[in-house]
Amino acid sequence: MGEPHPIPSGQLDRRGLLFILSSPSGAGKTTLSRMLLAKDEDIKLSVSVTTRAPRPGEVDGVHYHFVSNEKFDAMVEEDDFYEWAHVFDHRYGTPKGLIRTALKEGQDFLFDIDWQGTQQLYQKDQQDVVSVFILPPSLDELRRRLEARAQDSDAVIDDRMDRARAEISHWAEYDYVVINDDVDECFDRVREVLDAERMRRTRQTGLIPFVRELMA
Ligand code: 5GP
Repeated sequence: MGEPHPIPSGQLDRRGLLFILSSPSGAGKTTLSRMLLAKDEDIKLSVSVTTRAPRPGEVDGVHYHFVSNEKFDAMVEEDDFYEWAHVFDHRYGTPKGLIRTALKEGQDFLFDIDWQGTQQLYQKDQQDVVSVFILPPSLDELRRRLEARAQDSDAVIDDRMDRARAEISHWAEYDYVVINDDVDECFDRVREVLDAERMRRTRQTGLIPFVRELMA
């Protein structure tokens, strides 16, 4: 029997991951994102840049970086985005910022982005991406949740319902799919995915030195 090892395997060095939560508007990904950020210290939000106006309660730099069309154009021109896309009538993008360096240091990032952004992130960095698609239990329930939010007009809600169908059609492009019937249960499933993916052998950069010492 060997000596107990001083480094528990859960604390070995590892590479961070890009954790994507996508869903149609109203299926709960914003609530799930908030729960994850509140309960998990090792993940932080990748704050997107958008040309849309802030909703009540949204804070610049926290929920989004709200910018003008001209500023967005300039950022595209400067190649400042990891990915960007037109969603509804606006543009949204992930700024490159410190993501690349932070991944090497084991920082995980949460992305609340749509299927277009997910495809682009996969193309740029397949090994680090873990994607989860959140499905509503039914379209009636989705509409009810959008109406309860009461932040958008009827016309906007109708439009979002049409787009929800389009968004849902991309479910099969994701690594994991979770139905959000009960938000707490859904959250537990999402966390299980994240925990398991953190343990993926290829992300655990500390394994080789650990095993070398274990066998010495
Ligand atoms: P909302 O306007 O409701 O905050 O977001 C609308 C949609 O834009 C959501 O489906 C959201 O996932 C998507 N979105 C937000 N940020 C980004 C981003 O940086 N890139 C992409 N591709 N989509 C985003």
